[in-house]
Amino acid sequence: MAIILDGKALARQVKQEVRAQVDAGGITPGLAVVIVGDNAASRIYVEAKKKDCAACGIASFEFALPADAGEAALLTLIDELNNRDDIHGILVQLPLPKGYSEQAVIQAISPTKDVDAFHFENVGKITTGDYIFLPCTPAGVMEILDHYGIDPAGKHCVVVGRSNIVGKPQALLLLHRHATVTICHSRTPDLAAMTRQADILVAAVGRAGLITADMIKPGAVVIDVAINRGEDGKIRGDVDFDGVAEVASHITPVPGGVGPMTRAVLLRNTLKAAQL
Ligand code: NDP
Repeated sequence: MAIILDGKALARQVKQEVRAQVDAGGITPGLAVVIVGDNAASRIYVEAKKKDCAACGIASFEFALPADAGEAALLTLIDELNNRDDIHGILVQLPLPKGYSEQAVIQAISPTKDVDAFHFENVGKITTGDYIFLPCTPAGVMEILDHYGIDPAGKHCVVVGRSNIVGKPQALLLLHRHATVTICHSRTPDLAAMTRQADILVAAVGRAGLITADMIKPGAVVIDVAINRGEDGKIRGDVDFDGVAEVASHITPVPGGVGPMTRAVLLRNTLKAAQL
């Protein structure tokens, strides 16, 4: 049976570290969370972020716009937030409703307040390894690996998923740590042939049960980023946990793995933004 990589416990530790630094720092970091429209999932995430901030002594400011507010109003708000001294981090909850250009909105956020690290300037810096902020989810994965003494150097890491927010930056962070990296996606013809080569497998697709035990090299480390809500209301990852846990050496659970670490890294990024 694989060792469970307990992201929830590690996130608790990170939050305590952030809290201690906030208490010692004399400055109250401020995070603005902007939500447009009434997407139920986004609402849940925003509430969770506000709760996390409160637990760490970070001031959170919610800005809710109706779905039909329009991109110009959203850009005006971002401009205001860029210029406010009490707000150090700005996060726009994605996805945005139809009619908004997510790219235009992200690029309007000041790179020094871009705690999601989605701005082109931050993406470029992540590519060269000369970064201010790391994107929350891939950075959370790296912290889990580090905490459990799993060094990617020299390993073959296979990342399934190539999105701009998870797959691509994840591959880069592993590359920076001297892994040999393969990125798979929906056009990869024989996914299992790729995943079976992985010493470290990161699944970031969004399809429950995609990764089964026969796709895993015995002793591999398996990181499940995905959050899939089933019809029964339960959250599952991409990985068939029970089967894969019999073959892997280490595995993240869903929930309780990467998700809590993503939230913890956001808090750390907000603290860093305040310290800049
Ligand atoms: P996207 O939908 O943007 O990307 C999914 C990727 O999976 C795409 O690159 C797609 O390929 C690839 N893909 C789709 N089907 C297959 C397949 N059958 N075989 C191989 N690859 C496939 O999702 P995100 O990257 O935003 O998120 C991925 C998952 O992670 C989701 O479940 C999301 O909810 C979760 N997530 C979790 C977070 C956390 O905190 N734990 C944070 C962010 C996301 P192609 O590019 O060819 O379309």
